[in-house]
Amino acid sequence: MLESFKKMFSGNEGELPVNTGTKPDISREKSAELYEKAKNYFPGGVNSPVRAFKSVYGTPLFIQKGDGCYVWDADGNQFIDFCASWGPLILGHNHPKVREKVTEVMQNGMSFGAPTALENELAELIIKNNRFVEKIRFTSSGTEAVMSAIRLARGYTGKDKILKFEGCYHGHSDSLLVKAGSGLVTFGETSSKGVPKSFAEETIVIPLNDEHAITAAFAQFKDQIAAVIIEGIPANNGLLMQEKSFVKFLEQTCKDNSALLIFDEVITGFRIGFEGAAAYYDVKPDIVTYGKIIGGGLPVGMYGASAEIMGHISPDGGVYQAGTLSGNPVAMAAGIAQLTELLRNGFYKELNAKTKEFAESIQRFASARSYKLKVFHVGSIFWFAFTDKDKIQTAEDIDVASMDKFKQFHRELLNRGIYIGPSGYEVGFVSAAHTKIELEKAKRAILDALDIVFRNK
Ligand SMILES: *Cc1c(COP(=O)(O)O)cnc(C)c1O
Repeated sequence: MLESFKKMFSGNEGELPVNTGTKPDISREKSAELYEKAKNYFPGGVNSPVRAFKSVYGTPLFIQKGDGCYVWDADGNQFIDFCASWGPLILGHNHPKVREKVTEVMQNGMSFGAPTALENELAELIIKNNRFVEKIRFTSSGTEAVMSAIRLARGYTGKDKILKFEGCYHGHSDSLLVKAGSGLVTFGETSSKGVPKSFAEETIVIPLNDEHAITAAFAQFKDQIAAVIIEGIPANNGLLMQEKSFVKFLEQTCKDNSALLIFDEVITGFRIGFEGAAAYYDVKPDIVTYGKIIGGGLPVGMYGASAEIMGHISPDGGVYQAGTLSGNPVAMAAGIAQLTELLRNGFYKELNAKTKEFAESIQRFASARSYKLKVFHVGSIFWFAFTDKDKIQTAEDIDVASMDKFKQFHRELLNRGIYIGPSGYEVGFVSAAHTKIELEKAKRAILDALDIVFRNK
């Protein structure tokens, strides 16, 4: 490692300890230089915190380009990418169909702040192929979609409290930056400075996969709960698979108490099949939120519900929600192109089967060597958990100490040309662009990395 490079790491929590693996560390000179510069402009040098590599070794890689399942960083390192821009790129990077449609639409201008036919086209693609929404509204991010869905639920029911689950992420709006206090049913404690305590008091937090907690919350806050929000399948804090019976119980309890069920499918929508986790669990949420995949890599979010519920949104109803760039034509174009591909016969069947084989073959290897590793997976999402538990279904089930193993794993993967999200709490995504050949290559790299992680434990 270069002397100048070493200096750049000094004072960084992500400093690289001595390399005890069998591969040299990749060169990160250019990325490290760019990061130094970025720190002058952005808090922590980034525009979204997890990108800062604080949970893994080294400084963030600055990505220069992506194509198919590959990305290249500023130093010219090539990686097979399983981060996929945190989920949106289900077709891989720079998919020709998406690029061509975006390029075509861009020729006519970037934004009008007036309706365009493209909005109808994307809406039609979604509504015709989705049994959960009759009317929708496009936003520019998942956070915005969820924030608006919460306002809609409150406006529709005339109630104020929201029930959420510890271990679910719903973006960074104030009401949802709350975490559980001590006890089964608690008022949220703010999980960020700057969120008024009084806001957090409108949000009740309970553990996942616990029917008693739901019952207790509804008993304690009778007739006060506007909505329960849950990730379709919680996939922002590990992959926390829920029992179907639990989700069904939640659905029924909401009905019994005239509370709306909000499925936040920003990560699972169009990922676990076109109709997301709601179809997977066979529940009918009252409001659904989407994001990530819906925009084909451009900023789009969406919330939708029955025509009756959506009738409460302005200008039809009294719940205000708006956006200067909502329904942006270029973003709509990317969404149309991507979603059209997803509707092809057998798309999900093939993608999900590929992911299953990938995850299970890694699991077989790890189990044969008695490594403490579980590869949880659903659809085309997977998550490496350094544990020997057979199930991890709540935030509490995750072993914080195991994240040390992830750190080493992450470094060894980068050194072998595999890029995954820089935190052990983040899931990975397989895209249609990952061919069997690349998955096999990735698998070999992962197995090598595991050998090193467990040899050095
Ligand atoms: C990513 C995500 C969000 C936030 O979406 P942004 O586009 O990052 O604002 C909300 N909910 C879930 C479930 C997500 O995965």
